[in-house]
Amino acid sequence: MGGQGAFVATQRIFSVFAPATFLLVNIRRSMVATSIAFVGLEAQRRRLRSQIEARLNTVLDHGQFVNGPEIRELEARLTDFCGAGDCVGVSSGTDALLMALMGAGIGRGDSVLVPAFTFPATAEVVLLAGALPVFVDVDPETMNVSAATVQAALGELGDRPLPKALMAVDLFGLPADYSELQPLCDEHDMLLIDDAAQSFGGSDRYGKVGALAPVTATSFFPAKPLGGYGDGGALFCRDARLGDLYRSIREHGQGRERYDIDRIGLNARLDSFQAAVLLVKLDVFEEEIADREALARAYDACLAPLGSVVLPPRRDGVQSAWAQYTIQVDDRDSLRARLAELGVPTAVYYPKPLHLQLAYRTYGKGAGSLPVAESLAGRVVSLPMNPYLEPAEVESVCEALRRVFET
Ligand SMILES: *Cc1c(COP(=O)(O)O)cnc(C)c1O
Repeated sequence: MGGQGAFVATQRIFSVFAPATFLLVNIRRSMVATSIAFVGLEAQRRRLRSQIEARLNTVLDHGQFVNGPEIRELEARLTDFCGAGDCVGVSSGTDALLMALMGAGIGRGDSVLVPAFTFPATAEVVLLAGALPVFVDVDPETMNVSAATVQAALGELGDRPLPKALMAVDLFGLPADYSELQPLCDEHDMLLIDDAAQSFGGSDRYGKVGALAPVTATSFFPAKPLGGYGDGGALFCRDARLGDLYRSIREHGQGRERYDIDRIGLNARLDSFQAAVLLVKLDVFEEEIADREALARAYDACLAPLGSVVLPPRRDGVQSAWAQYTIQVDDRDSLRARLAELGVPTAVYYPKPLHLQLAYRTYGKGAGSLPVAESLAGRVVSLPMNPYLEPAEVESVCEALRRVFET
């Protein structure tokens, strides 16, 4: 009872102050950007809701929640979309990366090159497979590994055996330079794996992400450029024969018959509901990539004259999927605080490179060993990347950026 009384009292107090609060908020809002959505999933849901509901209802009707017809349909559409040899839908981007290693027989006694400036899953799967990560620095311009940074890492191996694979990450959506990484991998007999969790939808002059490396893993985590309404991912391969191997690994190593078990596998299936959502989102995906590009160009135009800020990298002939629009600044914390005051949310990916993380530092060479990754970790900050921002909202973000950078 006492609790309820307190609740009523709180409500009264709130209702007394509410008009004043409302007024204050409104005055504030008229001066600054109203709250800007960082990703824009709500606007997308409003746009696609009826088609998504129809697709989800179809799954409810047929009842094949696992391995339903939506899985094959999505795999075929994604293969078509990017021009890969095959596509296998899986439970997450992390599992897709793990399966890329398992499919190549990489495990105990092996090592794999991974960038130090990335999401933890890139290195995590190497250890889960039983192998060891070798951390590589990134290029200061692209923030991705390059032939030069990989060569530097190889040069420091000493008498350790050559790594079996290179996991290149397309950070923030910008594809790494596969035309220079592939010859280097060929020379050293290493498998080139594209961690495209952030870059699906991007492309370079040779093709689309999914077809740029022999094996590509992507993620359908909701906030990725192509995201579902839960976890999911996909594995792409150039050699279509690998597709059946991945389907077997996805299903406990199943052989031709259900209870023929040919290898050690996982339970790593994508579920039918997620595939249903992704099929609808794929219809508008290219349009969204174009809208992301337009937003990135609007930010570029606004920030370029301001100085004291490093714009996100661009490469000739390369389309980023713009998972993030990430700038570099000297005083990140005060910039973020001032933008937050003006209603502009920001995010920091990733404030600490992997080789300095508690879980991974025994596999690296400590502070100072990968200076570019370490410097970027202290300087990067991402702005809202939301293809559904209205022109007035884009303008209000740019206005906030001008105000913050001009003073
Ligand atoms: C998101 C992400 C992953 C993992 O994807 P999940 O679907 O969340 O498992 C792997 N690598 C990178 C670079 C990512 O951004």
